[in-house]
Amino acid sequence: MPAPLNESHVAGLSGQIRIVMVGTQHPGNIGAAARAMKTMGLSRLVLVAPEKPVDDEGYRRAAGAEDLIEAAAVHATLAEAVADCRLVLGCTARSRRVQLEQLEPDAGAARLLRFAGEGPVALVFGRERTGLTNEELQLCHASVHIPSAPAFSSLNLAAAVQVLAYEVRRALLAAAAPVDAVAPRPDDLPATHEQVEGFFSQLAETLDAIDFHKGRTPDSAMRKLRRLFLRTDLSVNEVRLLRGVLADAQRMARLAGEAGRLSP
Ligand code: SAH
Repeated sequence: MPAPLNESHVAGLSGQIRIVMVGTQHPGNIGAAARAMKTMGLSRLVLVAPEKPVDDEGYRRAAGAEDLIEAAAVHATLAEAVADCRLVLGCTARSRRVQLEQLEPDAGAARLLRFAGEGPVALVFGRERTGLTNEELQLCHASVHIPSAPAFSSLNLAAAVQVLAYEVRRALLAAAAPVDAVAPRPDDLPATHEQVEGFFSQLAETLDAIDFHKGRTPDSAMRKLRRLFLRTDLSVNEVRLLRGVLADAQRMARLAGEAGRLSP
């Protein structure tokens, strides 16, 4: 099992992950991609020969992620942009377009993280109209395809960046979980079988005491109530609360009974 990660380790790994946008035609997509990245804790945006410089529309769509655009590296070719990367994954809208291993987004994200421990890694996105060229895909170690509807498989470029950035974040959080997880307090633990059965016994007694069944057999109501409560994964605390409610109901039933006997 890989060693659990702490937060600075997570930040270090995210810093190794580049989102490379090749030949982007609409600056608005660069802004939207920057925003998508920042929401998922990624910051390294790399542009390869964008058709136009980022304009007002691009900055507007960044909506707070302008810093990623300002810091973006710009290269003339994909080869240059990924020269120092340990792993390069190319995102393609079409399934099995080249003889390249094809990964699902979650597997792609997991592989990126594995290699990010060793150095920079890249997720490469193609042009809006034509995607990545075969030559560009050949620079990639594997491809990633979001399993979209085959008859309409192409996502908006920034939407594809969002899906992959989300998968990278999930993979990072999963890797970080063992260290960050806070042990639940004993009262928040699931109740034991014995505790839940104790509650059911008291519930049955209470239903009798308040004359809930009115002559009907109690079995059917109890079966339904058991199913309801067993579905909710009661905690130790919740069982205690419910039993407190029942104890009060039993006390009130007793008082009502005594008052009935005393009244003339
Ligand atoms: N018409 C182009 C689509 C380009 S969409 C083509 O057929 O290739 C722009 C970019 O978004 C793609 O190059 C790819 O990097 C990414 N993208 C869009 N849909 C995707 C999908 N289903 N899976 C993976 N990446 C996708």
